[in-house]
Amino acid sequence: MSGILIVEDEHKISRLLQIELEAEGYEVSQAYNGAQAWDMYREGSWDLILLDVMLPEMSGIEILRRIRANDPATMVILLTAKDSVEDKVSGLDLGANDYVTKPFQIEELLARIRAALRLREQQQSSAMEDGEWLSAGGLRLNEGTHQVERDGQPIELTPREFELLAYLLRNQRQVLNREQILAAVWGYDYYGDTNVVDVYIRYVRKKVDQGYERELIHTVRGVGYVLRDHA
Ligand code: CA
Repeated sequence: MSGILIVEDEHKISRLLQIELEAEGYEVSQAYNGAQAWDMYREGSWDLILLDVMLPEMSGIEILRRIRANDPATMVILLTAKDSVEDKVSGLDLGANDYVTKPFQIEELLARIRAALRLREQQQSSAMEDGEWLSAGGLRLNEGTHQVERDGQPIELTPREFELLAYLLRNQRQVLNREQILAAVWGYDYYGDTNVVDVYIRYVRKKVDQGYERELIHTVRGVGYVLRDHA
């Protein structure tokens, strides 16, 4: 199910679009002027916006400019007047994904919507491949890209430190003993003693907690370690 916002002041056209899109299985909402469109854009979550250019209160071009100021992801297809080359050019320059000129053939518009939504899906799944973020407090770790940051500041970790922190984050709020940590991070075939865990916890703490008011990695005396947001 995809959420599509139809922004069109001509009620007849808006109604036609609603019927056709709902028949295709899309979830549809409608705005009838620029101000309402802007409010609905900000309050909702949309996969695609069908945006008429000629609108009362705020033009489609202005809405597009505002959307693209910090949202490159939402698909926008402009509905432009047939003779307005200027709108098409400035629309594409401002980051519209596509445009359809009025009067349009509904089949062509539907095909363009399908293409835009396919592109959005591809972009979303490649964003997923970039990895999921594990987080606690202001600490974030991405297992796909190996990025680590706290309060937006990047933290450099060695591969072993990274594995250790990832393990603590995946099991946050659970107290982990040294043997568990050793098995998970170094593997069972590591024939060292468990002191190596204490050593690496110290390294990671230095990078993750030092200089921050709130510590995330805590020692549980006689047991092991726990990563949690609250002491
Ligand atoms: Ca219009």
